[in-house]
Amino acid sequence: MMRPLICSLALALALAHPAVAQERRVAVTFDDLPFQADEATLCDPARMMTITEDFVAMLKPLDTHGAAFVNAGKVCEAERATTLPRVLNVWLDGGLDLGNHTFSHINIHRTTAETYLADVDAGAPIVRDVLEARGKALRWFRHPYLFTGETQDKHDAIAAGLAQRGYTVAPVTIDNNDWMFADVYRKAESLGDTALMQRIGQAYVAHMTTVLDFFEPYSAEIAGGREPAQVLLLHANSLNQAYYPQVHALYLARGYRFVPLEEALSDPVYGHADTYVRANGISWLHRWMQTDGRPIRWEPEPPAWIVAANKAPASELQAIASAP
Ligand SMILES: [Zn+2]
Repeated sequence: MMRPLICSLALALALAHPAVAQERRVAVTFDDLPFQADEATLCDPARMMTITEDFVAMLKPLDTHGAAFVNAGKVCEAERATTLPRVLNVWLDGGLDLGNHTFSHINIHRTTAETYLADVDAGAPIVRDVLEARGKALRWFRHPYLFTGETQDKHDAIAAGLAQRGYTVAPVTIDNNDWMFADVYRKAESLGDTALMQRIGQAYVAHMTTVLDFFEPYSAEIAGGREPAQVLLLHANSLNQAYYPQVHALYLARGYRFVPLEEALSDPVYGHADTYVRANGISWLHRWMQTDGRPIRWEPEPPAWIVAANKAPASELQAIASAP
């Protein structure tokens, strides 16, 4: 008689507190280190250090256990060997892990697997050195644009090359176009339009809620009815400097625990077969859905004015934002 009682009690608790029903977990990842910024900023060592220290100071008290992915080639060659290790050590001091995101943020659709893997190798030494100085290994790799190869040959050559080099691919489940909001935010920043910056930030946080509303049940469809540990893709930029704390609070309010990438990837869902080969950078949830022979359903798009403003020059931003 005990079992039905316990079950009904558990069910009642689950209904009263959905977050208690199943512990939600998320690994947060930040791509495009050292920072999504203009070239002048990326070539100014003092500015790079300030931006990095501010970003990590924002993250540190939130205890994300996050991982960040580096494009070493984004830093000017003259500054790279001196500034990049200092920048990356700030991230490590903040309790985050590091991975390789290729040297130049290379687009596999425009090159060969050989050139791509050479770019992976060029991106490794500085990241590896700062990790190994702390007794850690360079292990993680994140594909730029989430492009994994648009032909079977390229796809397989890249996968084999990464495995041979000892990399573990860091998939993404919660893909969300934060980079698009961040581009529009930078345009508003360049205009000094603080009211518009705030509106973009609010639209971003609202969008992150909508995206989570979509991906939570979608992920459960793939993982046999339970929500798997998620991997959230974000980027290091001024938008997240200002608004990541609100995104973090959103996840906390929905019952998420922030876990290291390694813990998230130990979820069995990441062992799912993946036969997706297309010229498209998409959530691994979609890849698994397609692999299972089921129709992909896409996550919500950003608001139309954000999409339009992303494609337009900064000079047109205010007109686009004020259009009905
Ligand atoms: Zn990237």
